[in-house]
Amino acid sequence: MNKNELNKLISLLAQQGLLLTSGRKAVISVLAQAKKPLSAAEIMESALIKKEKINRATVYRSLSFLESKGVLELLRLSGDERLYHLNLEHHHHLVCTLCHKIEVIHFCNQLNTQEDEIKKSTGFTVKKHVLEFYGLCRECSQN
Ligand SMILES: [Zn+2]
Ligand SMILES: [Zn+2]
Ligand SMILES: [Zn+2]
Repeated sequence: MNKNELNKLISLLAQQGLLLTSGRKAVISVLAQAKKPLSAAEIMESALIKKEKINRATVYRSLSFLESKGVLELLRLSGDERLYHLNLEHHHHLVCTLCHKIEVIHFCNQLNTQEDEIKKSTGFTVKKHVLEFYGLCRECSQN
């Protein structure tokens, strides 16, 4: 997500009545720039949070607020690991079974075709789908 898209996203959330304090805005920015879901600790380490001197309690409070509003999705991994990512668009997860990394992907064209097929052949109207892919990430499949 580039700066422009990020600004658009933040003003869209504000229009929806979401009160965006500087802490909440910073957390959204960090997650929007990240290529993968992040833990609270990783968010704390990010350059933006450090630059804006946002403290740990604010980051944690912002995360739980944004999760409660559905802006963020919390992934609970095995052990105590918790990862956050933006949940504003329909997406799927690629879960690496070796290193437990989770990537987010946005593609559903084929699935939408499948849903049309389901409607035609069974009369069932699909309203949504939930799908996760399990396997090996790029790094793990090269080793
Ligand atoms: Zn997700
Ligand atoms: Zn992996
Ligand atoms: Zn989908």
